[in-house]
Amino acid sequence: MKSKFNHYSERAKELRALLNKANYFYYVLDSPEIEDSIYDQLYRELIELEKANPSLVTSDSPSQRLGGIPSKGFKSINHNIPLLSLDNAFNIDELKAWYSKIIKLIGSKNTTIKEIQKPAVICELKIDGNAISLRYENGILTKGATRGDGKMGEDITRNIRTISTIPLRLLLNNPPPWIEIRGEAFMPNKIFNKLNLERKNNDQPLFANPRNSCAGTLRQLDSKIVSSRKLDFFAYSLYLPQNWEPNDCNLKKPTSQSESLEFLKNIGFKVNTTSEKKKDLNELNNFYKYWEVKKNSLDYATDGIVVKIDKFELQKILGSTNKAPRWAIAVKYPAEEKATKLKKLIFQVGRTGAVTPVAEFESIELAGTIVNRATLHNAKRLATLDLHYGDTIVVRKAGEIIPEVTRVMKEFRIIDSNLVKLPSHCPECNSKLVQESEEAITKCINSECPAKIKGVLLHWVSKGSMNIDGLGEKIINQLVNLGYVKSIADLYKLEINSLLSLERFGEKSANNLLREINESKTKNWHKQLFGLGIPHVGEANAKSLSKNFKSIEELFTSSKDSPEKISNIYGFGTEITDAIIKWFDNSNNQNLIKELKSIGFSLKENLKSKENNSNLLNGKSFVLTGTLESLTREEAKELIENAGGKVNSSISKKTDFLISGEKTGGKLKKAQELGVKIINENELKLLL
Ligand code: NAD
Repeated sequence: MKSKFNHYSERAKELRALLNKANYFYYVLDSPEIEDSIYDQLYRELIELEKANPSLVTSDSPSQRLGGIPSKGFKSINHNIPLLSLDNAFNIDELKAWYSKIIKLIGSKNTTIKEIQKPAVICELKIDGNAISLRYENGILTKGATRGDGKMGEDITRNIRTISTIPLRLLLNNPPPWIEIRGEAFMPNKIFNKLNLERKNNDQPLFANPRNSCAGTLRQLDSKIVSSRKLDFFAYSLYLPQNWEPNDCNLKKPTSQSESLEFLKNIGFKVNTTSEKKKDLNELNNFYKYWEVKKNSLDYATDGIVVKIDKFELQKILGSTNKAPRWAIAVKYPAEEKATKLKKLIFQVGRTGAVTPVAEFESIELAGTIVNRATLHNAKRLATLDLHYGDTIVVRKAGEIIPEVTRVMKEFRIIDSNLVKLPSHCPECNSKLVQESEEAITKCINSECPAKIKGVLLHWVSKGSMNIDGLGEKIINQLVNLGYVKSIADLYKLEINSLLSLERFGEKSANNLLREINESKTKNWHKQLFGLGIPHVGEANAKSLSKNFKSIEELFTSSKDSPEKISNIYGFGTEITDAIIKWFDNSNNQNLIKELKSIGFSLKENLKSKENNSNLLNGKSFVLTGTLESLTREEAKELIENAGGKVNSSISKKTDFLISGEKTGGKLKKAQELGVKIINENELKLLL
């Protein structure tokens, strides 16, 4: 057996190799091979390994180096004052730990400075661009350089001069012999999207994100190209000669970070105006939370906030390590991607019989929630992933989006591990699975498969259909497993004794459930239609169908004789129409309709309960994101659909409106990128 140490040293070696390679692609080629959050996660794992086993630290470890290697195309420049990176906190608890450490550290120094118990901090946005150093001599810009390895950067003065927000001459009456400015060059999102679109049209490789695109632009040998890309710059710190004082009565030599930002603004720099001075951790937390939500409304990328001890005197006492100042810390926004280990693959059988591979993996926290499973959708996706047992996988979850396995990290694959394949037989009923010819779907076609029956029932009782609250998954599982229910119709034939034999059922609860089931027969026509589970007929399409066909007979006849009546409905195409035709063509489904009718379902428009419909939003498509002020998502959807609009789950160029509430995710960003009109709940109400 291998010793633990051996295992650690092998892992450290594996991580070093991967991170060094990633650094090369990121810093030298400006074209990252791995996601930033995966880099951060693995980098941290290496640091922790090295901390626990110092003998594992090697001179080529990425932990021993900062940033990239200056590129050969530019002259190197020595930074008079090193350009450091920032230490990271990945959540508020880590930020708290940093603050406590700072207080202790200041306390341990012999200082007479007040404020040592609760040093004020300044919060800034962490701009996801490229650190730049500027040197002004006698008020004139003489040098502009990249960070490089922190000690030596690339001389990109010619390119820097093309950035219109970097002054060539400072607004100072008595400029000192030198001033060093630090800040972040960045590419605004609008420019980035336009650039990538152009590159796509010209079949050129795309930039991964605005930061890499900005880095690539800054290192262009042709300054005209740099100028055309309209980079921007936020200044965030400066260094002045000790014995210099401004002679302008409106200017005060800064003694803190907050005063520095004011000073920078006064001498001609663009300074990010969101910065705020804070006195305690709660306020800090609020700033972080606010910008985590609002970050998508900015026209530049940010990947967290930076918290800095405000007073220079305290900063001086705290000093720096060789990689980062101790007086500042970056608090990164929660990762949307993480690497984790695949534990096992399960195969779920849905109501249509489609078999979905689902990956179960070691729990990870993603975008603020703990996840441990993700669907792989179908056999084709499974094959594309080339997943092997024991693989390390990358899982992504952005905001409200369902987690998905985006790729496999083959660098960490165990030698001789087996490929994960779809089973040949149904995991539920053991009948042979069938591959549907054109689709990537593998199906169980046994109509008595218990998994399918459970799926059909769950769909039937769901909110959008019969909305039978008392019938949850656990009860349905028992009813099917005990053989009491084999179809939707069986639900309506249930007897009280059957329910009483289930776990935790008393006479009262059994009667209540029977009443609820019986009352469901009067649900609206579109809800009955949705409950049938016709492929592609979700809630919205069921509503559209119910408006165009007043009964199941009308729809059935049209599916046979005039399918164009279906395909002409707004938002319907041949795929949906074909699915409807195929569904009605199936004798099992025809029997289901007969059975439902015999139980008492009308399967037609109920004129009494006709909703207050209008056609105000006819032809308009909507997407909802975030938490709305007073309406639930369901309610908003109902209002839109009743007015003839359509609600989709994802944004596309065709979307007319995004209705945005609080705590939005990636949809808001996408809508901004695509130029989709964004409105809030009140504006929706006005439209209605
Ligand atoms: P960093 O980007 O995490 O943070 C440090 C930088 O933040 C500073 O150098 C500065 O340029 C910038 N910054 C932005 N706003 C600031 C503000 N208001 N005040 C002060 N500084 C501010 O660290 P880094 O050393 O530049 O880069 C390391 C990061 O780069 C990693 O954490 C990772 O996310 C990414 N990276 C990714 C890969 C990859 O393969 N994907 C490889 C290497 C590095």
